[in-house]
Amino acid sequence: MSPKTMTTTAGNPIPDNQNSVTAGARGPLLMQDYQLLEKLAHQNRERIPERVVHAKGSGAHGTFRLTHDLSQYTTASLFTTVGKETPVFQRFSTVAGERGAADAERDVRGFALKFYTEQGNFDLVGNNTPVFFVRDPLKFPDFIHTQKRHPKSNLRSNTAMWDFWSLSPESLHQVTILFSDRGLPQSFRHINGYGSHTYSLINGNGERFWVKFHFKTQQGIKCLTNKEAQAVVAKDRESNQRDLFEAIEAGDFPRWNVQVQIMPELEAEKYHIHPFDVTKVWPHKDYPVQDIGVLELNRNPDNYFAEVEQASFSPSNMVAGISWSPDKMLQARIFSYADAHRYRVGTHYEMLPINRPLTPVHTYHLDGSMRFDAPGGPDAYYEPNSFDGPVQDEAFREPPLKISGNGDRYDHRQGNDDYGQPGDLFRLMSDDQKNQLFNNLAEGMEGVPAEIVQRQLGHFHKADPAYAAGVAKALGVASQG
Ligand code: NDP
Repeated sequence: MSPKTMTTTAGNPIPDNQNSVTAGARGPLLMQDYQLLEKLAHQNRERIPERVVHAKGSGAHGTFRLTHDLSQYTTASLFTTVGKETPVFQRFSTVAGERGAADAERDVRGFALKFYTEQGNFDLVGNNTPVFFVRDPLKFPDFIHTQKRHPKSNLRSNTAMWDFWSLSPESLHQVTILFSDRGLPQSFRHINGYGSHTYSLINGNGERFWVKFHFKTQQGIKCLTNKEAQAVVAKDRESNQRDLFEAIEAGDFPRWNVQVQIMPELEAEKYHIHPFDVTKVWPHKDYPVQDIGVLELNRNPDNYFAEVEQASFSPSNMVAGISWSPDKMLQARIFSYADAHRYRVGTHYEMLPINRPLTPVHTYHLDGSMRFDAPGGPDAYYEPNSFDGPVQDEAFREPPLKISGNGDRYDHRQGNDDYGQPGDLFRLMSDDQKNQLFNNLAEGMEGVPAEIVQRQLGHFHKADPAYAAGVAKALGVASQG
């Protein structure tokens, strides 16, 4: 058989791929035409469930090059040898739209990175915003319901969005970013990325530092107005996919300066801002950003489905020397992201080439869909065992968390300033940015009942009276205060 002979999935040669087998030229099909049956069966299975959030995305391969040694903070090898290049895969996305949604929409952009380190995979699953809408994962499914379609009308609902936001003032910071000029990026190359959550770094002395990751675009921030976006979408629903793909094909590789903010462990107890609250940033004057390296995207995937649709990022993928923080949203994502992939890709999704680490994997997870090797060896399929199977290594034990407390449901609304940082952001905007914010919000509130609008204006007012006055004017309603 020639290497180019077409085969069935079992490797059997296919003699004819144009004419199905029939009993005579005008007779019915024969059951034995296995090639026909296999083609039809495969066609029925060409889709997997789309992601419930971040369904529409684009991805590319690249590298992270370390420019500053972080060994005083961490043992993670990707951060300790200046000049080291760690391969990465990155997926950008919109959040609310389905797989076929237009790219140029006002929405947060996902900024998910998988670092294939020599210590296993480290996934940093962030956004183009440093904060998020809610700080407690109990509220996350409800929040996402408001971003998706109304169960009866099957339409997106401004009323649901603003009802939820106006009843959840912790969302104001992210709402202000979403409706600012930066809420509608021109392309994935022109956004910043943020790890958003607080993570931790652990050094060789067992000392822990809290860390926030930032990725500043070298291409510059570029945004679209609502009107410009409408014109883009009318002509091209894949504007961000096209921009990223074509730039990389042309050798114009996008880059980001990678930065960190670092906080010693015990400062978290007394810092005036809750350092694990994902609705807050750490102001730069308190914790300056430090450059650590450069992220470059330089290779397009060969197959979109295999490499982008099946790319499975999860904050549970963590290497020695880096760890999580008590951020409640992060803690929930450790479970829910991996769980989403088990559901939509399959039990052993991490065995797929795009997800598999470069390092050997030694688990005792046994069977389930897509199992195709014997991880522990033929006899070592449980642990402990006497057959030289893989064992735990105490050297990787993390130092105990110094922060402690009593297990309870602590009211996250108590003692939390939901207005200071949105106000800070508003005040740093130029007049033009402020006007865009007012008009974007007024457009976004179209059709929302007056009572909900008034409730939301009350939040804008608490952030800054000029914020509420500007939105009220754009809406043509009475201002608060
Ligand atoms: P700084 O003046 O030190 O930092 C301001 C930051 O705001 C810069 O990183 C800038 O990013 C970013 N920024 C500017 N315009 C916008 C916009 N329209 N939408 C979103 N981000 C914008 O002040 P602070 O650190 O005290 O932060 C003040 C406010 O800035 C915060 O409340 C927060 O809303 C926002 N911010 C803060 C960040 C942080 O980590 N401290 C990160 C991002 C935003 P760039 O340098 O790219 O222009």
